Amino acid sequence: MTGTRGADAPTRGLVLVVEDEAAIADVLRLYLTRDGFQVVVEHTGPAGLEAVRRLRPAAIVLDVGLPGMDGTEVCRRLRSDGDWTPILFCTARDDEIDRILGLEMGADDYITKPFSPREVVARVRVALRHAGPATVGDTLTIGQVSLDRSSRRVSVNGESVDLTATEFDLLEYLMAHPSRVFSREQLLSEVWGYAAMVGTRTVDVHVAQVRAKLGDASPIRTVRGVGYAAEAT
Ligand code: CA
Repeated sequence: MTGTRGADAPTRGLVLVVEDEAAIADVLRLYLTRDGFQVVVEHTGPAGLEAVRRLRPAAIVLDVGLPGMDGTEVCRRLRSDGDWTPILFCTARDDEIDRILGLEMGADDYITKPFSPREVVARVRVALRHAGPATVGDTLTIGQVSLDRSSRRVSVNGESVDLTATEFDLLEYLMAHPSRVFSREQLLSEVWGYAAMVGTRTVDVHVAQVRAKLGDASPIRTVRGVGYAAEAT
């Protein structure tokens, strides 16, 4: 996809390498660049953390032993901020592997040094494939309703609710743009993507189904004469 991206959208294809050994960082930069990724290198934990927040990379190759802040701490801070950017850890020592595996969340994968740069590239690709298009800020919440974009799950007060694929896409679209009112035609073109093929009544039917499933917690509000918006009830 091309075009202008919002400031919050992850930059597609940017890999952040956080590695204090210049020789390793250079070879990773070379191989990842050759494979079509944009690459930014940082050499310390704090600089790495700051770069993730600023650049929104698609994936992070993160050394464990880093000056300033250890790689596992960088990961822990990102996850506690709700940042689920895929991380490939690089580690040289067994005790570091234990620390990575001990992370309750967030170790997507790790690779032990010395590694082949080709393998790092292959693992980054796998991490990106698993992450899907939305890798940052994956949970949308309005009131009691939470929508997890990566697992495509919706829950009300922690209780899982089964939505069809289209119901999910509709709710996701509205929740991703809270308080914005969309016409039925806009929703058809954004969610269904084939506005000409189905009537606007389709939108009403799906909204009714989502409301029936979410009950009073449903964030979808009807705006008379205009369309629908997601708002806290
Ligand atoms: Ca190191």
